[in-house]
Amino acid sequence: MEILETIIGLEVHVQMNTRTKMFCECDNDAFGKPPNTTVCPVCMGHPGTLPVLNEEAVKKAIQVSLALQCTVNRENHFDRKHYFYPDLPAGFQISQYDFPLASSGNVTYEIRDDSGAVQAERTCRITRLHMENDAGKLTHRGSATLVDFNRAGTPLMEIVTEPDLRNSKEASAFAQELRRMIVAIGASEADMFKGMMRFDASISLRLQGTDDLNPRSEIKNLNSFKSLEKALQYEERRLRKLWEETGKPLPCNITTGWLDEEEKTRVLREKETADDYRYFPEPDIPPLVLKESAIAEIRKSLPMLPRQQKQRYKDMALDEKQINLLIEQPALRTIFDAVHKEMHDAKRAAGLVLTQLLGFLNAAGKTVEEGPDADQMLELARKIGDGTISANTGKDVLQKMVTTDKKASTIIAEEGMQNITDEGAIETLVQQAIDANPQAIVSYKEGKSAALGAIIGWVMKESNGQADPQKVQEILRKKV
Ligand SMILES: [Zn+2]
Repeated sequence: MEILETIIGLEVHVQMNTRTKMFCECDNDAFGKPPNTTVCPVCMGHPGTLPVLNEEAVKKAIQVSLALQCTVNRENHFDRKHYFYPDLPAGFQISQYDFPLASSGNVTYEIRDDSGAVQAERTCRITRLHMENDAGKLTHRGSATLVDFNRAGTPLMEIVTEPDLRNSKEASAFAQELRRMIVAIGASEADMFKGMMRFDASISLRLQGTDDLNPRSEIKNLNSFKSLEKALQYEERRLRKLWEETGKPLPCNITTGWLDEEEKTRVLREKETADDYRYFPEPDIPPLVLKESAIAEIRKSLPMLPRQQKQRYKDMALDEKQINLLIEQPALRTIFDAVHKEMHDAKRAAGLVLTQLLGFLNAAGKTVEEGPDADQMLELARKIGDGTISANTGKDVLQKMVTTDKKASTIIAEEGMQNITDEGAIETLVQQAIDANPQAIVSYKEGKSAALGAIIGWVMKESNGQADPQKVQEILRKKV
């Protein structure tokens, strides 16, 4: 019986969050703006206009290239990739063909089980990263098709992997790690829902034990991790069945589309090659020559990447679940890092942010972004740290912060929640406790020192936990 192996490679398109478009001064943030309002003759491809390369886009693409362990190529060329489509006003896309920005990298990623525990570590090699501009967007309404060119000219990075992925789970885990890296760098929000990150997945089969790269099926334009996984699973089953029927792989490369609702692929075209695009050098953009010193400068600007962050949290002795929460949610990470810096105690910071804050947010049906921000959490941590309130009272204050959106200091003042530190007031409370618990005093005098616990407990209860426990003990010891 022949054993078949699945071979998967990805092409990932990521929109960069630069201020302006790739080759013109148009606003690159068209989200929520009326159609065809962030356009100009350059991004509309009018004859006689000249594209000017966006420096910020080049810098961001280099940052990502370095994070992917790629070699950044000193000489870059731009090329015209020709095809006709109503959302491509110039009739060609400006891309990079044989001199891309970066090549030969790799990404290490983790395979996790359903509980989030790491099962295995894998590495996927990166073939190349190149820059290009995005096309516009078509919307189909009944028999009509509407076109919006706001997206035309948005800077894109295309990241191409080697065929190193062996199943849909690996493809999705790799893609998620890639997304985390790009978000950490700040090159894109990579919001899948807004189409900022999209995948083309190539899949083929071969006999296990061979190195054949057989003709592949390329599934175009997958825009969520879920559709990436489902489409690959579907196509894998389909190709295996075809092989069983014909006894061999696909006869030629095919391009397919994924039908989200029907959960199946559809063949769009066959036998497409690079020749069909008639690539030729873009005459209006001179070769981009990068200085080694400039690349070194950009390398220094790289922020901490998710894997390094993960190690940092491991060193703080946080558990896997807590680490995953922080790695997956940048907003939560900002809050935790700020609170941790104040408290100098990872366990207590995790208790406040990952247990209490997340618990209260969940209960209130709010996201991290809708709850207290890092400054507000920092204020609360300081109030606990300087003894204005106890950690226990802090929990009540935090719950109110989440439900009322008020600051910690406002809630403490309004509700009189600060610790009682006034000695006179505590002395009165202690005397009342002694009067109310004569038996405890008798037991203490008989040598049972633990009996004082009952007195302290009484004071704490009477004061709603606001009496300073240190002072209560001191005064009590003086009295008995
Ligand atoms: Zn423009």
